[in-house]
Amino acid sequence: TRRDVGAEVHGIDPKLVDRRANEVVTTLQDHGYEAYIVGGAVRDLLLGLKPKDFDVATNATPEQVKALFRRAFIIGRRFRIVHVVFGRGRENEVIEVTTFRAYLDNQAADKVSGNEKTSRQALANVQHAVDASGRVLRDNVWGSQQEDAARRDFSINAMYYDPRTQTVVDYHKGIEDARRHTIRMIGEPATRYREDPVRMLRAIRFAAKLRALGFTLDAKTAQPLSELRGLLGDIPPSRMFDEMLKLLQTGHALASIAELRELHLESGIYPLLDLIVARGDQPLVQLALQDTDRRVAEGKSVAPSFLLACVLWDDVQRLWQQYQQDGLAPHPALHQAIDETFERRVGDVSGRGKLGADMREIWVMQPRFERRTGKAPLSLVEQPRFRAGFDFLRLRARTGELDEALAQWWETFSLASDEQRLQMLEEAR
Ligand code: ATP
Ligand code: MG
Repeated sequence: TRRDVGAEVHGIDPKLVDRRANEVVTTLQDHGYEAYIVGGAVRDLLLGLKPKDFDVATNATPEQVKALFRRAFIIGRRFRIVHVVFGRGRENEVIEVTTFRAYLDNQAADKVSGNEKTSRQALANVQHAVDASGRVLRDNVWGSQQEDAARRDFSINAMYYDPRTQTVVDYHKGIEDARRHTIRMIGEPATRYREDPVRMLRAIRFAAKLRALGFTLDAKTAQPLSELRGLLGDIPPSRMFDEMLKLLQTGHALASIAELRELHLESGIYPLLDLIVARGDQPLVQLALQDTDRRVAEGKSVAPSFLLACVLWDDVQRLWQQYQQDGLAPHPALHQAIDETFERRVGDVSGRGKLGADMREIWVMQPRFERRTGKAPLSLVEQPRFRAGFDFLRLRARTGELDEALAQWWETFSLASDEQRLQMLEEAR
């Protein structure tokens, strides 16, 4: 049942609402459509957090939305959504607009305006919409707002906010759950995980993100996770990798690992994530995770290559030694160790080429830091990726793997003038 909740109850601060999201909602409403801020943004607003992005839900079709904005692009095949773009270059911001969609085979969807043409085919196929293990294969059937709410994952993610009236529309007791600090799956949790196993990772992610605010997973929502985690094996590795990065690179890496351990999900999720959880207490990995959380909190960028270089340094070092014992020279041995580590631990994932190249650069720089004579340091310090390599060196020093003095020397060297650098090299001879 629908509940409309006023500002005096939900207490959302309108100043936290993004100006562009407001504009998109207002424009749609002015043209006679229903439009709301939806999902994670409403959850965060309700909790007094600053949302990192704003999504809008509407009963206008993608074509109708596109027609109302100067820079709007329909994207996606299976989930057709509209990106409304504001600003330019680095400052640019995208508001994602989705049309209300029905939860699976809701026949009533057919009656919703705009649905007739687009989804007749989809409706004809609804009986095939779930595969043998219960996974959702289709999701482009327009629906009402109520249906749109029911297809979402957690009650706190399924609320709608109208910035004009400052009303929150809540169909699944999201407000109540937020007050009780509960992350609760809408519907039957096991069924919803079978439809889309990635929801299991989302449950962990939101639990980690909201842990500091005192949130926990509802018992029934947590209960099937252990048994159903094997379903994640059917998810393409690239998607798993991306979801893993959302766990580790959105400011809650340490909390995510703690959450996984508490739920007894430290293995069987995804090989690389299992490994990170297992190595979470290794000094270098722990420092890297801490560092990642701190950087995100400070609004700085984080690169997956850096974190993974820390996690896999152990493998690289071990293989490097082994190949040298087998008779290879240090340099080719290192490259071979890197190739093998990457192949074995990372495998086939999105952005593989760049990721691999960035990790390799960090690792290959490490032995170069040990040479402080001749011209080598001068060219090393000018490398575009020097910073990442140096940050890695510094973490190694902090774990005691290396002499702090070496990291200190490079810090000073990198900040020095040309003249000072030459003098430092002279002294190091
Ligand atoms: P974040 O703050 O991390 O972006 P979010 O809740 O906004 O969290 P998104 O992945 O941006 O998460 O998704 C937006 C909304 O879409 C969610 O709040 C939820 O309502 C819905 N959603 C996303 N993924 C799923 C899914 N796999 N199953 C059901 N609903 C989903
Ligand atoms: Mg979001």
